[in-house]
This record gives sequence, C-alpha cells and structure tokens, in this order.
Amino acid sequence: MSTNTITSSPAVRSFRSPTPRSPRVTMLLRPTTVSSTTAASVPILTKLQKDCATPVPVLRNIADNMAADMRAGLAADGGSDLKMILSFVDSLPTGNERGLFYALDLGGTNFRVLRTQLGGRDERVIDTEVEQVSIPQDLMSGTSEELFDFIASALAKFVKKEGGKFVLPTGRSRETGFTFSFPVKQTSIDSGILIKWTKGFSVSGTPGKDIVACLNEAMGRQGLDMRVSALVNDTVATLAGARYWDDEVMVAVILGTGTNACYVESVEAIPKLQGHKSTSGKTIINTEWGAFSKGLPLTEYDRAMDAESINPGEQLFEKTISGMYLGEIVRRVLVRMAETGSLFGKHVPEKLQTPFALGTPNISSMQQDTSKDLEAVGSILYEATGVDSNLDARKMVVEVCDTIAKRGGRLAGAGIVGILQKMEEDSKGVVFGKRMVVAMDGGLYEHYPQYKRYLKNAVAELLGPELSSHVVIEHSKDGSGIGAALLAATNSMYEH
Ligand code: ADP
Ligand code: MG
Repeated sequence: MSTNTITSSPAVRSFRSPTPRSPRVTMLLRPTTVSSTTAASVPILTKLQKDCATPVPVLRNIADNMAADMRAGLAADGGSDLKMILSFVDSLPTGNERGLFYALDLGGTNFRVLRTQLGGRDERVIDTEVEQVSIPQDLMSGTSEELFDFIASALAKFVKKEGGKFVLPTGRSRETGFTFSFPVKQTSIDSGILIKWTKGFSVSGTPGKDIVACLNEAMGRQGLDMRVSALVNDTVATLAGARYWDDEVMVAVILGTGTNACYVESVEAIPKLQGHKSTSGKTIINTEWGAFSKGLPLTEYDRAMDAESINPGEQLFEKTISGMYLGEIVRRVLVRMAETGSLFGKHVPEKLQTPFALGTPNISSMQQDTSKDLEAVGSILYEATGVDSNLDARKMVVEVCDTIAKRGGRLAGAGIVGILQKMEEDSKGVVFGKRMVVAMDGGLYEHYPQYKRYLKNAVAELLGPELSSHVVIEHSKDGSGIGAALLAATNSMYEH
C-alpha cells in the first residue's frame, strides 16, 4: 500500500486530444501493415495470456486452497497465509438500533467523520452527516500525540455543529465506532494494539500501543465527551452496514487500493478461539485474504514487481487482484513490448519506465474507449506514460489491460467461492440453496465494469447456474461509514 491515492479517473471524454505529436513522428509511426507495429509484441501478448489464464480448473483449485487456508488459519495463529483475525464483533445490526452515533474512519490520507441518527425499525436512518478531513503530510511522520490530537480536534469541531435532527439523550456520552484500516492485534471490541503503520504513515510512539486508548486520551484533552465503543476494520464495517438493510448478508469484500474479506463464522468452527463467549454463537472473522498465495497464476512481470516492492513475497493475492497493482503490471508488460517489440517506435520514454506511472483508473478508462480510432486510449497513454501510439499499438495495449483485469476479477471471484465453500462445508445449507448476499465495496469494484463482470462470471462458472442464482453479489456503497456507527450502536454501553 502507498500513500499516493489514485483518484478516480476523469471521464474518457475529458482527456485532451488529439495527442500532440510531431509530423515526422507521425510519418514514422504510420503502419504500412498491421504487423509492422505489433509483430514483435504478439508473442509477448500470447505468452502473457497463457501465463494469466484462469480456466475453471485453475479457479477451482484457488477456491479449494482458499477454503483450506481459512480452515488452517482458524485452527491456530500462524497456521496459514490467512491470519483469520477475530473481530470481536459477535452481533450485527438488526435494524432496531436507535439514537445518535458517530463514526470515525482512518485508513489513508483522509479521514472521515460521520454522525447518524437512528430511529429503529420504522424510521431507520433519520439523518446522516459526513465530513472528510485530509491529514497534513507532516503529521503522518510526527508523534502519536500530534496525530491523535489533530483527529480529536477535527472531531470536536464536527461535534460542535451537531443540531437539527441529531439529539443526544441527557445524561449520555456520545459513542463512536472507529474504523481503522491498519494492522491491529484486536484484544476486545473496543481495544487493539497497533502492530505497525503502513500506507506511508510512520508515526512514532503508536506501535505496540492500544490505539483506542490513544484516541480516548486525545478526546479527553479536547474536552470531548465521547468514547469509542467499537474498533473495526473497513471490511467488518462494510458487512455491518450492508447487514442493516439485508439480513442475508454473510460476507463482505473490499476491492480498492488493497483487498480484504470478512464473513460470519460459527464460534464452534474456530478451534483457536478458546473461551471466547458469543451469545449469538457467531462471530465475524477478518480473513486478511490479501496474503493468500497458493496456486496463483503468476507471470514474470508479477514476480519482478513483487521483488521490487516494499514487502517482497507478501500480499501476493492483493498484488494480483487489487487496484494498487493492476496498472503497474500492465505498465511492466508495455515496457517489455516497447523495448523488445518497439511497440511505440524506437524511443522508450522515461515516463513509461517509471514505476506506478500507469494507474488502475487509467487502464480502466482505456477499456471504456469504444471509438473507432481509440483516441482516448492514445491520450491516456500519452499523458500517463509519454508514449505515442498508433491504432495497432492501442489495440495491443487494450488487450494487455483486459488480460490483467480478467485474471484479477476471476481470481477475486474464485476467492469469494472459496469463502462460500468453507462456510457450506461446516454447516450444510447455510450458504447454498438459499439466498445469501456478498457485500462488495471499494473503488476498483465500483469503477471497473469489466473487472466486475469477470468476477461475477467466475463465480457463476464455479457454482453453476442453480447455486449461483442464490448468491447475490451486491455493491454496498459507502456502507463502511454507517456500518461503524451501527457497530457503535450494537456495542453501546447503554440499553436499547
Ligand atoms: P481505498 O481502497 O484506498 O480505501 P477506494 O475504495 O476508494 O479507496 O479505492 C481506491 C482505489 O480504487 C484506487 O487506488 C484505484 O486502484 C481504484 N480505482 C479508483 N478509480 C478507479 C477506476 N475508475 N477504475 C478502476 N479502478 C479505480
Ligand atoms: Mg477504503
């Protein structure tokens, strides 16, 4: 993960075109025949497609491995690639929640604060307000106190504006859910030790500390009467947010910059869980599935990207399917085609050789270009990587994008089937044969239609028409914000 948040790409139409290009270069690039531009790149594409292939047997193997790894991770800590972390969330929202609740979401360069007034079964969500605050760069490498003081002070300002339909009953403290998307060793629903900062944060003094205590202390220093009643990650919050509206949501998957999944598990199916009591008999498991690795169809480009990453050998599933990496894999293939296949002429621009120059929003936008001469593909390529391209080269580029998106989407789909399979093996009939919902969120899933289609197709191919007709894969937009507030409600210190 990195801090360079890749914002949603502008609509294809907004790219300036035509591509600036000198007349001489145009002459050079004008293909005399189709093969003159792409001939040397065709074998590179063919090999890429072969290495990235995800026929059903490959996907089935992935799903089986995912299910087996989940089981091993539930048996013992460190038992598999999958950490299978206990979320301590034993009860999900029912729709009956009432009152004023806050949520705080810290997971990147922005954090969000939210308040919601819940009116129970009949009135549901009476009102919600959200504000986004960006974290000053210097605070991301400052001290723990400075960071949490900044957050608490922004929260205090937000609370001051409370009014209208938002009402706190007299005699009560405000309660908030805290969505914190960094690695945490959770110790209870409202405490967890930060293992390490990621995504460009290097704040001193927090690792090894309870981050809820850090936040509570900072809120105290601000004179803010609020307590954290639920600490969750974004996947768990998404599951909670989706479940509020639909009782049959059992799994949540995030496909954004990174990826993760969580699901509802029976307490008796968790051998490593000794002595944990859950009145519902269920608990949410955070799989941390980005670390999955067994049986992935990887290419030389994936291996090189991994070797040069800050965490070589780790997060391989994430590196194959999530938004941070898809564009970068495509760029690496294009460098090869440029260097050994002269796909963009003799010159290979430095920009094309810059890691992460091509973002996943770029490759997604290129795939949306339906124009005859692929004008938008040309503009995006030029703006992001500095290359001049003719129509044949552009077609080749779109093929590469499609190959990488297809593999990513299909593998993500196989991962989902792995989770469903594991759930079904433990309690027959829980998943298959009746309606069940997988809640999806994240910028990649939301904004890359081809990726989404490949994912759904893979699920359907693996399950077959009968079973897959019961499995609903549904976008739960921004469910995580309200989900954290709902978990503050279900874990409230006050009676409902
Ligand atoms: P995060 O995962 O950082 O919390 P999001 O869920 O909003 O945030 O996802 C952002 C990620 O989604 C980006 O890093 C990018 O990889 C991907 N993304 C954003 N826009 C698009 C797009 N138009 N097409 C494909 N992927 C996109
Ligand atoms: Mg997110």
